[in-house]
Amino acid sequence: MPFARLLEDFAEIASDWFWEMDADLRFSYFSSRLAAVAGVEPDREVGKSRLDIAANAADRAFWQAHIDDLLARRPFRDLVYPYSHRDGSVRWFKISGQPRFAADGAFLGYRGVGCDITAERETQERLAATHAALQKINRELARHNLRFDTALNNMTHGLCMFDGERRLIVCNTRYAEMYGLTPDLTQPGTSYDDLLAHRLATGIYPKSGAEQYAADMISTVEDRTPKTRLLELVDGRTFSVSFQPMPDGGWVATHEDVTERKAAERALAEQNRRFDAALNTMAQGLGMFDAEGRIIVCNRRYAELYKLPPELTLPGTSILTVLEHRLAVGTGPRELEPYRDQQLTSAFQGRASHYRLELQDGRTMQISHEPMVDGGWVATIEDVIETIRAEARIEHMARHDALTGLANRVLFREEMEKALVRVARGETVAVLCLDLDHFKSVNDTLGHPVGDGLLKAVTERLLACVRDTDTVARLGGDEFAILQAGLDKPESAAILAQRLIDDVCEPYDIDGHEVVVGASVGIAIAPSDGDHPDQLLKNADMALYRAKSDGRRLYRVFEREMDARLQARRALELDLRKALADGQFELFYQPLIDLRTETISGCEALLRWNHPGRGLVSPAEFIPLAEEIGLIVPLGEWVLREACLEAAKWPRRMKVAVNLSPAQFKRRNLAPAVVRALAASALSANRLELEITESVLLLEDDATVKTLHLLRGLGVRISMDDFGTGYSSLSYLRSFPFDKIKIDRSFVRDLAEKEDCAAIVRAVAGLGASLGITTTAEGVETVEQLALVRAQGCTEAQGYLFSRPRRACDLPAVFAEQGARGAARSAA
Ligand code: C2E
Ligand code: CA
Ligand code: CA
Repeated sequence: MPFARLLEDFAEIASDWFWEMDADLRFSYFSSRLAAVAGVEPDREVGKSRLDIAANAADRAFWQAHIDDLLARRPFRDLVYPYSHRDGSVRWFKISGQPRFAADGAFLGYRGVGCDITAERETQERLAATHAALQKINRELARHNLRFDTALNNMTHGLCMFDGERRLIVCNTRYAEMYGLTPDLTQPGTSYDDLLAHRLATGIYPKSGAEQYAADMISTVEDRTPKTRLLELVDGRTFSVSFQPMPDGGWVATHEDVTERKAAERALAEQNRRFDAALNTMAQGLGMFDAEGRIIVCNRRYAELYKLPPELTLPGTSILTVLEHRLAVGTGPRELEPYRDQQLTSAFQGRASHYRLELQDGRTMQISHEPMVDGGWVATIEDVIETIRAEARIEHMARHDALTGLANRVLFREEMEKALVRVARGETVAVLCLDLDHFKSVNDTLGHPVGDGLLKAVTERLLACVRDTDTVARLGGDEFAILQAGLDKPESAAILAQRLIDDVCEPYDIDGHEVVVGASVGIAIAPSDGDHPDQLLKNADMALYRAKSDGRRLYRVFEREMDARLQARRALELDLRKALADGQFELFYQPLIDLRTETISGCEALLRWNHPGRGLVSPAEFIPLAEEIGLIVPLGEWVLREACLEAAKWPRRMKVAVNLSPAQFKRRNLAPAVVRALAASALSANRLELEITESVLLLEDDATVKTLHLLRGLGVRISMDDFGTGYSSLSYLRSFPFDKIKIDRSFVRDLAEKEDCAAIVRAVAGLGASLGITTTAEGVETVEQLALVRAQGCTEAQGYLFSRPRRACDLPAVFAEQGARGAARSAA
């Protein structure tokens, strides 16, 4: 077959078409295939250039731009271009061409092929689009995974997921941390058994034991029901683990470290338990009510005091229901209306109140209502019948002599003051001071019980001599005083005095002993011998002194000349004024012992006067005089300064106590003096205790209480001194927040003999304990007394048993010795 014919045949069946161009770049041949592909008649296109056969403007523009470059007598391959078909579609053609040259090198034109790659191209485009979409999906997925990872690894819970073969699918970092997993153990595919083995090897299993744990866990995952386990690990941590099975046989578990939460829960439970325990061991009844007056909680004592059955103590019970029950069983208020209208109403209105309530059954409750922040209130109730009795006893003790039941100096003075008011209106009264002669020898030879019996018998006879309107008092040991009221004439006092002497001097039979004593009486008459209680007493005393020196069993009426003692006193006064300037005062220090630790908690500064002629003078002798003449103020300031300077040298835990006299409060410069003393010595304020007696509070002066608060505000501690003498009213203890009560040594002295004294000391120590303040027993001289004051609940003691007041220079030795004794005692 001729070659040309062969080509014809191939061209006919090829999907490509063939073309030829002459040297002028005009088409000279197209294979017939072109017709099918390009929609043109091959014969009609022969003789045209490529631009001539362009189907439209776009096509022509393309060829105009490329044709010179393309047909520059060089070969080109696989040129792809858009072809605008007559039917309006765009098709993609790919053409290649080869230039032809004659043997002599003359350019003959091009020959080439073309094919339609539209379908191919579309497929490619679709693939590219699919690829792009896939890439986008991949990117999304990656981002999503990252988010998922981040979320997973920032969870506070540990999380792990296992497949049906018990192989790890995924776990987060928290899970790895909780179980101390190394990175190789957190790879997907790690077997659950390996993880379990790792825990057992590293000691991460519950207190119940490793094997038990492994068995438990395996059964939990095999069980295939959701559950939560609390694991208390041997290392102290507590984990809460929740399992959630998955349908394919795997599971998801979350692990939470609840150690702190559990500890907090336990602490709360413990706190609640303690609160309950405290509530139910409280001596007071306590009830907590909400704003509607319903019980939130009440303790056992509350129910006991009001006789409430258990069902009325349940939360939610209305106070009105409780009240109704109380009225029925006799524990309601004796007077209902005032209680309901005042106390109960004010509780509902959120106001605090403190009151005493008498119950129908005769008991008295001390009640306080404290409002709570979010409505409702807390009520505490206390059966105060004992307190009332103790108070009454103390009030009585305060005004009466415990042995004879007679008025004491305090009550006597009060009666004198009342009488002097009547004197001012024209009445005449007499004060008789009576002293037993040689009473001391009765005591010494026959003993104290006989001495006491004698004093009681004397009392009876004295009372028999006087009228109801007169007052008989025992002022001290064997000193009595009688206030004779409504005298018709001054001589009546002398008549009474003689009768008293006669009767008292009659023999006594005391426990089978015949006893005889004498008596002397001194008389002062108001208004002629004075119009002030102290003055009258002093003058009667002066007369008594004269009676005694005149021969005893006599009475004497005060006369001006008896003022000799006044003279002596004036001399003392002069000496005293000089003493401060001459540096004759000195401070002695007496240790105070903390009974709980048996150590010295501080010392009381006690003033001494080194009188050039008389030697050491006791403060009892010169303090009253110093007060009277106003010297107490500079003297008191000297004591403060000196005591603070000395205390600054002591061990830091020791305090110094300084006595203050009422006169120092009357001047307004006490607080500055204290501040100066503290500043000058650099002693910290809480190491200074100021001892005051009730007489300070008796000044009944706002400024005094203000000064006390101011001092306390500085950090200085305030002690109530000599409690039990003077007015000794518990109300004074309530009127100021004292830091300490010092029980007078007269109580300590009689503690063993007199039940009354023990009761008072116990009551005061109890009060001190409930106020959280120190109670100090003064004048402890024997180990028996020490044991007794300790038994009554005193927390501190002072007295010769431990040490007498000592010079400052002896203190280091005292401290060392007392420290050694304390150590020995606590070792014993
Ligand atoms: P006080 O404040 O009650 O002082 C305690 C007194 O009891 C001191 O007497 C002390 O020596 C004495 N005492 C201590 N332990 C015992 C003991 O076991 N048995 C006995 N029988 N007595 C003991 P002192 O030193 O004679 O002081 C008497 C009072 O003088 C003091 O009583 C106090 O009220 C007053 N006083 C002392 N120094 C000052 C002072 O600087 N200023 C003021 N204003 N008064 C002072
Ligand atoms: Ca004192
Ligand atoms: Ca005292």
